[in-house]
Amino acid sequence: MSFLELEDLTLRHGLLEAVHGVSLELGEGEVLALVGANGAGKTTLLRGLAGAHRPAAGRILLDGRDITRMPAYKRVHIGIALVPEGRRLFANLTVEENLRVAACNPGRGHWTLERVLEAFPMLGPLRRQRAATLSGGEQQATAIGRALMTNPRLLLLDEVSLGLAPIAIEAVYASLKAVLAEGTTVLLVDQDFTRAAAIAHRVVCMLEGRFVLEGKGSELTREQITEAYFGLGRTVETTA
Ligand code: ATP
Repeated sequence: MSFLELEDLTLRHGLLEAVHGVSLELGEGEVLALVGANGAGKTTLLRGLAGAHRPAAGRILLDGRDITRMPAYKRVHIGIALVPEGRRLFANLTVEENLRVAACNPGRGHWTLERVLEAFPMLGPLRRQRAATLSGGEQQATAIGRALMTNPRLLLLDEVSLGLAPIAIEAVYASLKAVLAEGTTVLLVDQDFTRAAAIAHRVVCMLEGRFVLEGKGSELTREQITEAYFGLGRTVETTA
């Protein structure tokens, strides 16, 4: 039995089918990078896993238990945490307050305020600073730290490096390595394929709501990724 299983999962926005019956198995401790162009369906899928978007069809199983209809707040308690695209911090709260507000499930995992501040050294001097005044990289570190405060078993990271300066991306990924060392299962979305593939055990490429390529990052060629990313290998129908 896999830790996480998706069976024919379909997610819609009204009439638009953003994720078309995808299936996936993820082992405990596995790190999976989900890549793909804008609009491929990555965010919708992550939100579906976190319980923020109700699937139209298919099933989500965690430890073999069907959680497809479980509300988001209960998923946090069974160990699913989402770091959403755009971070969504509480702008008027300090870094420390943003972290403390999420604290739950003590005893299940390793994460406490002190340990988050150790893993993200850039946050220490900013503890009492309001989130609204942080740089993009500092906000991302706070958002990941906030998710860790729930002691997740499955960490969902959406667009880790989007909008960050190269030096901030370096720092966030360096801290992520400390997180991965704890053996947390991670599903990571990043437009930066090279960086995501470097820390992932497996890469899945998504195109127009479907998984079109899967493999170890080190085994996939740049041509395969480019083709899958943009759908270049598909035949184009023309009307003569
Ligand atoms: P991005 O990197 O741009 O966030 P993505 O791969 O995460 O792309 P999604 O954001 O999941 O893709 O979008 C998948 C499809 O669903 C797109 O066609 C998008 O326009 C559509 N979509 C996303 N959110 C909504 C919404 N709230 N209402 C209607 N359509 C939406």
